[in-house]
Amino acid sequence: MIRYFLACLSMIIALVASPSIAEQLEEQANELIDTALQSDLSWEILESLTTEVGPRLAGSPAEARARDWAVAKLSKLGFSNVHVEPFSMPGWERGNISIKVGEPYSQPLTGTALGKSVGTPVGGLNAEVVRFANYAELLTAKEGSLIGKIAFIDGEMVRTQDGAGYRLAGPRRWSGPYEAAKRGAIAVLIRSVGTDINSRTPHTGGTTYGDDAPRIPAAALSNPDADQLARLLAIKPGLTIHFTQTSRILTEVQSGNVVAEIPGSKFPDEVVLLGAHLDSWDNSTGAQDDGSGVAIVTAAAKIILDHGQPERTIRIVLFGAEEPGLIGARAYLKAHENNLDQIMMVTESDFGAGRVWRMDTGIAKTDEEKADRILAVLARLGVTKGLRTATGGPDVSVLSAAGTPAITLKQNGWNYFDIHHTPNDTLDKVDPEDLKQNTAVYAGFAWMVANIKGGFNRPQN
Ligand SMILES: [Zn+2]
Repeated sequence: MIRYFLACLSMIIALVASPSIAEQLEEQANELIDTALQSDLSWEILESLTTEVGPRLAGSPAEARARDWAVAKLSKLGFSNVHVEPFSMPGWERGNISIKVGEPYSQPLTGTALGKSVGTPVGGLNAEVVRFANYAELLTAKEGSLIGKIAFIDGEMVRTQDGAGYRLAGPRRWSGPYEAAKRGAIAVLIRSVGTDINSRTPHTGGTTYGDDAPRIPAAALSNPDADQLARLLAIKPGLTIHFTQTSRILTEVQSGNVVAEIPGSKFPDEVVLLGAHLDSWDNSTGAQDDGSGVAIVTAAAKIILDHGQPERTIRIVLFGAEEPGLIGARAYLKAHENNLDQIMMVTESDFGAGRVWRMDTGIAKTDEEKADRILAVLARLGVTKGLRTATGGPDVSVLSAAGTPAITLKQNGWNYFDIHHTPNDTLDKVDPEDLKQNTAVYAGFAWMVANIKGGFNRPQN
């Protein structure tokens, strides 16, 4: 009798002491985080990509090599369904550049072509420069007021943790050339969209022309060169510049998105999509933009793969051709729009390798409680509760705009725009410990989303 009683008692104790399914999930996420914080895998992946492939301009043979690299790496790591989803796009070549101030202050300025910019006529162009203090001032210029002139779009860039400075300064690059062309300009120079005010390294990055204005050559000056030009124009309004640029748009070229999966054990048709982009600009090895993202999502998924099968499918998508304007993401949406309902969550790492400090959500209000449970686990890594306006990241914003739930794991971007789109975006700028923190956040996050009861619903409009 006593033995029976003791046996019953020990069973009751075991039942009471055994963690609930919810607690188990949190425990498992914590184990993954512990593993990721000890793992060098994300660094090894980043080192391999940036060293063995190097720069990988969208649509170039180098980007094709990056796809080969990714397929080989993801297959070797043991992922399932590794494949390339190809698409075509217009190619582009940077060419050479020369920017020379005219008499009596003859001197060269340091600049670089904006991505997708056309070149100048052979032999260059010679024209008067008109300065605008910022993009907003350019927009106040009258139609026809810039005929035959070079517009110089100046302006500050504010250093921020969350990238708000980029949204403010970015338009002079994104649409400055188009707006200047509408007003008659024959070329554009902008102050680099970057926070390294003392560096003579210009920042490239894509510009977008419009159909109702001519495509005019556009380049970015380094910050100190933009200072110099502003001073020269203050001394001599009407100063001329001789500008030669041999960049050109090529005919259709091939690119592609690289996909790999951990199939779900219980709900294989419910997908947690972890994104990053494989292409970089041609002027650097793209260690932060976006080699780090490739390394973070790949290593996080591999740590999960080694730990056990999730209930839902975890899908890595390494997008091609992000830099020229989310071309890979749009191709992905087009190819998958008929089964978009299967994508239960999107997130993307594409803001360097600074520590994740905030979690923004773009989910149904009724699922916020689940997001809070995930956040409670990530809190030990320094992640705080953020805004309810998440798009998930640049490429995956195309999917969340089409209705998929999204969560953004915001990285600290305080220093990101010092080297963004410059030749300085190299491996040495990435902090290995910060990279581990990112990998740990993604591993814990992805595991919880892929197993949490009920999953996530589309946010209501
Ligand atoms: Zn990027």
